[in-house]
Amino acid sequence: MDRYQAVFLDLFDTVVRFETTRLPTVRIGDREHPSTTDLLFDEVSPHAPGLDRAEFRRALRSLLATLREEKRVDHREISSDERFRRLLVGLGADAPGLAERLTDRHMEALTGCVLVPEGHPQLLADLRARFHLVLVSNFDCARHGRSLLVRTGLDRLFDAVVISDEVGWLKPHPSLFLGPASALGLAADAVLFVGDTPETDVLGAARSGMDSGWLNPRGEPFPEGLPGPTYEIRSLLELRRILLRP
Ligand SMILES: [Mg+2]
Repeated sequence: MDRYQAVFLDLFDTVVRFETTRLPTVRIGDREHPSTTDLLFDEVSPHAPGLDRAEFRRALRSLLATLREEKRVDHREISSDERFRRLLVGLGADAPGLAERLTDRHMEALTGCVLVPEGHPQLLADLRARFHLVLVSNFDCARHGRSLLVRTGLDRLFDAVVISDEVGWLKPHPSLFLGPASALGLAADAVLFVGDTPETDVLGAARSGMDSGWLNPRGEPFPEGLPGPTYEIRSLLELRRILLRP
């Protein structure tokens, strides 16, 4: 008899990878950095006369730091549209639908870098023959998240998809762990949660009473002060050994 009845998986850097070399870049000093900032500036500048590129970059960087801190403290998701609305208010720039257009430009660039590693779709199909499969993602734009899943065919491989933008909370908040478990009628200890981020995936699972698998492809040390994972794996494909032994 299987130890678990469901496997919950994180999306980014767990089920899919980012090929950051495909991102647009910005040149700062003599170095190129992957970033959508210049794409966004081109969209905003017609609506903000006098705004220069450096000022725009500073405003965006400072807002992102503020939002990161807010999210770290209260685990409430802030949607991408809301982020850009706040940016535009701060810049005194506005036009109908502009925040949503910024989200679209940013997300198209971001999701264009997503790669489904070889072997993952077959692994998910094999897991789903034995377990409920749920995708649980901290992602601040559900409409682009869901269209990414349709485009890659991943939407058909899960029984449910849970996105923080729709829940209003972020991992490690228990609602992203216990909510989908109770929707399946499962106790927490019937779920294995698999993800790459100790502070969200592993911690949230532990706080919710779930076992966890930490995907650690580079063999990094596990951060001190956090509850350790039940399993540590270098590749998602190792779930075959843990979960699909005959
Ligand atoms: Mg991740």
